[in-house]
Amino acid sequence: MEALKLPQVEEKTSLRLINSCGCGKPAQYLVYEQQKEHCHSCMMEAINCDVPVLVRML
Ligand SMILES: [Zn+2]
Repeated sequence: MEALKLPQVEEKTSLRLINSCGCGKPAQYLVYEQQKEHCHSCMMEAINCDVPVLVRML
């Protein structure tokens, strides 16, 4: 008799990459201008310019 095979539950946590900012802090924002992940303070610095910059939360 064959044992019931339950569908494998994927570990969601392993799929999510842990992004870190250049300064070492965990990144929370993606700055499209640079295509880089930044923490809050570095994001604020990155968008501190005359042109509009797209930023999204990770
Ligand atoms: Zn940073």
